[in-house]
Order: sequence, then C-alpha cells, then structure tokens
Amino acid sequence: MQEYINREKIKLKNFISNETQKLIQETECYVKEKPFLKPFQELVRKCSDCLDSSIEEVLEKADEYEDSFQISKTIKQIADIVQFIIYFLTECLLRQDKVDREIYHVFEWFFEQCGNKEDKKVRYIVSLGHNIAMTEFQQILKSISAEIIYAKLFEEFNDWKFYIIYITPYSCLHTNSLNWVIFFHECGHIVDDLHGKTHSFYQDLPKWWHVLEEQANQGRLRAIEKRWVSEYTADYISTHIIGPSFVWRFVREYLDLFRIFEPSSSHPPMDKRITFLLEELKNIGFEEESEKLKDLLEALPLEAPSEEVSVEDNRDQIIEYYKSCLPVFNREKFEVHLKKYPLLSEKFKEEIKQKRPLILPPSTLYTLILFDEDIESDGKMQVFFADCIRLFIISEKFKAVFAPNPSGR
Ligand SMILES: [Zn+2]
Repeated sequence: MQEYINREKIKLKNFISNETQKLIQETECYVKEKPFLKPFQELVRKCSDCLDSSIEEVLEKADEYEDSFQISKTIKQIADIVQFIIYFLTECLLRQDKVDREIYHVFEWFFEQCGNKEDKKVRYIVSLGHNIAMTEFQQILKSISAEIIYAKLFEEFNDWKFYIIYITPYSCLHTNSLNWVIFFHECGHIVDDLHGKTHSFYQDLPKWWHVLEEQANQGRLRAIEKRWVSEYTADYISTHIIGPSFVWRFVREYLDLFRIFEPSSSHPPMDKRITFLLEELKNIGFEEESEKLKDLLEALPLEAPSEEVSVEDNRDQIIEYYKSCLPVFNREKFEVHLKKYPLLSEKFKEEIKQKRPLILPPSTLYTLILFDEDIESDGKMQVFFADCIRLFIISEKFKAVFAPNPSGR
C-alpha cells in the first residue's frame, strides 16, 4: 500500500511540474501577441510557483492519517484541486482567441477612469461564459474548498486580487459593440470590491458570493439586501463613468439580456434598478435621455414584486462615497468632448456612414449614438464603432508617449 501511495505522490508532483511548465510557455506566447495578458501571466506564475514549491508540504498532511484509505483519499482531493486550477487557467488562455483587443480596450479605459493607473492596475482577464458575470480568483478557490485542502495556495491570494470577467461569445462580437457598455456593470462590481465599500456595511455577512447567494435563496433578508445594494452600486458606478448609454442598453436589450445577465434570484427588480438610474441621469444633466428611457421602460413587462427589502440607507451612503471619488461623465463633459468636432451632433450620422474616424472617448461615442436605430440594427456600423474605440485608445497612447505631461506645458 505504501508503495502505491508513494507512486501517487510522485505522479502528482510530475503532473504539476510538467503541466505548469507547459502553461507558462503557452502563456508567454500569448503575451507576446497580447500584452494586456501580462497580469494573467503573473497569475499563472504565482499559481505555478506555489504549487511547485508547496506540494511536498501539502502532501505531508495526508501522512497524518493512519488509515491508508484516508491517505489515498486526501491525495486524491489535493490532486483534484491541482487539476482544476491548471485546467481552469489553460481554458482561460485558450479562450483568448475569441476575445479581441477592442474588448480589452474598453475595459482598460473604464478602469483608468476609476483611477487604476500604472501603479495599481486592476488585474483581470476576460473569458467566455454562458452569461455576463465577474468573479475573483480566490472566490473560485473557495468554491472548491481550497482553503481547507490546499491552504497554501488559497492564502497566496489573500492580498493579491485577480478577477475573471465572463462575457458571452455572442456579446463579444464586433457586430455587437453597442452591447459592450453592459460589461461595465461587472467593472462596477470590481471597483466596489477593490474599495471594499459595500462589504464594509455588511461585515457580519460572508464576503463570498456563492455563500451569500445561498443565504439569500434561503430567504435571509440581510443577505438579499447586501446583494441588492451591491447590484445598485455596480449600476451606479457604470452610469457615473459612462453616462446614459449604460441604462439605454440595459433597457433596450432587457428582454434578451435578462436570460444571460447574472441570473440570480436575489437581484433587485429591473424596473427599480432602472428607475434609480434614470434619477441619476437627471442629476448629471441628461434629462432628455432620462425621459426617453422612461418611455421605453413603460413598454417593458414588469417583474412580479419580490420581498420587501429596504436598501436605501446603506445604498445612498455608498453612492455618496463613489460620487466623491470617481470622475463623473455628465452633460458638461459630453459637450466639451463634442466641441472637438464642430457640428458633429448634426452631422454625426453622415460622418459615421462615410466611415470617417471619430476619435472620442467611449463615453461620448456611446452617448452620441444613443437612440439611433439605424446604427443599432446595422452590424457593419457597429464594427466601425468598435474601430473608433481602438483608434481612440491608440491616440491616447500616442499622446502619452509624445506629450506625457500635458499639464506642465
Ligand atoms: Zn451584478
């Protein structure tokens, strides 16, 4: 029996060193093509180093048992975690073939607005899933009980956050570039998680989403409240940074999106979420857009009323906090951007139909095409729109290289 156990241990150690080596090499090839995968490369290295250096010690835990069946079972549990992690990382990497750089551009832009510059960049990867969602890497480890079976690996991520943003294969197509604003809701969750704001109001509740979800599903009102506040906060952050286009897309695509968008029994009713955002749009000067969206909202079927959960107190305090620390995209800013293109607001449609490049931030671009059904229904226009986003990012990089200190001159 001892011989069998030793063989199992050696097999696992070899598996780790072979597979992590392969993964590291493959990641390096991807990073050469796609430098925005560097944070993922760090994640791969971190996991590989930890697995490699700690497996001996972790396996010793199995020897604490006298019963050889128990020893073998423990080794199997450790091996399951190791396999899961390596396959998970490999899968994330292979899916990059479907996630274009324009998608990363919009995420980069959003996080930069939220103050995540060079020194404290948000670490994330965009992967494909069956719905639009985000999760933290340590949350994934938690969901497979790594904190018990492979504590060393779990603890590696106590102060090192890495996020996985899932989008659907359909929504990431360039012919769907108008739907990309919906992704910002997930960024809102990430920004809130990094600030730790919503959680600070609910420290008595678990930080882990799947545990919270279980409690919410069992009808624990405070768990539902935390989930709702966190949804409102993510909605608020995206609207604050991107302006009316987030709500617009949310309303326009509601019937299609609600099937794929974070299906959860514990999110606030859609009409309440949207009404809350329409109020915010008025506050930042987009009254006209807010009114038009209200008309659209009225045409939607309402959800059945759910539990009465009062979120206002905490939600409003959290929102005040973000209002004070995140830059707003309001009517004034929109108009400042438009001044770069005199007469753009009238001629915009012709310009875009002529495929004249518009070098404007995503917030302005999206706001400009709001309510334009021709562009909305034309996939080719949407591809052009994605090109404009890329052009904007290139021009920003160019400016950063050639005029790195614009305020100094
Ligand atoms: Zn959400």
